[in-house]
Amino acid sequence: MRKVLGIHEGSGTHWVGDGFPVRTVFTPGSTGGRLSPFLMLDHASATRFGPAEHPRGVGVHPHRGFETVTIVYEGELEHRDSTGAGGRIGPGDVQWMTAASGILHEEFHSEAFTRDGGTLEMAQLWVNLRSADKNAAPGYQTILESDIPSVDLPDGAGRVRVIAGTLAEREGPARTFTPMDVWDVRLAGGRPAALPLRPGWTAGLVVLRGAVSVDGGEPVTAGRMVLLDGDGGDVAVEAAGDAVLLVLSGEAIDEPVVARGPFVMTSEDEIRQAYEDFRAGRFGAIAV
Ligand code: MN
Repeated sequence: MRKVLGIHEGSGTHWVGDGFPVRTVFTPGSTGGRLSPFLMLDHASATRFGPAEHPRGVGVHPHRGFETVTIVYEGELEHRDSTGAGGRIGPGDVQWMTAASGILHEEFHSEAFTRDGGTLEMAQLWVNLRSADKNAAPGYQTILESDIPSVDLPDGAGRVRVIAGTLAEREGPARTFTPMDVWDVRLAGGRPAALPLRPGWTAGLVVLRGAVSVDGGEPVTAGRMVLLDGDGGDVAVEAAGDAVLLVLSGEAIDEPVVARGPFVMTSEDEIRQAYEDFRAGRFGAIAV
């Protein structure tokens, strides 16, 4: 069984643009690379927005050196980027954006959500790339709810949606640069389950809703990440009531991580270059 290395408290709530009241659950600094290739996770717990005239969110900004993975639990978002890609994602959908050599994008509530108002819950995960892949072309994958295979846990303990990686021979649709599992897990209250993690990979469980006991410990409430030891296989989980977890597990990238604002590189020089390239307009443009 997997052992718990530590429980990461999220930050207080802060706003990303005017659309996303998030709690930062972990950062490169807080994990010290022990959850590589996963860098950072922001969670906006369910928040009610009234109708508005203009979409709330974050205007055009750059990224380089990693991938952003946006998972919508409730509400609807829209995205546009400098590769010409764009899309609308709703509950259960995922947007997997590869910034790599550089991208500009904007992230807003959808037009319909803005007009009607509603409840928004989402998470955004940052996934690192190997140094050799940080120069790759930027890209964008829209992964719809219906594309994501679902695996039932034994004894009615819940179900696992495989966004990336593999579980019970079901493969997640996300194309990744390095091997990883990203699972959206729904646990039924009072039903113990063993989640089969791959030995030797880093692993963390992010509690998004409810409270979950991990390896027999005290229940961990929403907005926290349970960092697990890399050794061992299954992890024992049990939710008090219904709970939602995000399971992150992967092959660590053993390289320096220098994260500054919207860029994640391997040295300060590369960060300076990223800012210079952005100022010089080398990240392209978003078509109007
Ligand atoms: Mn962004």
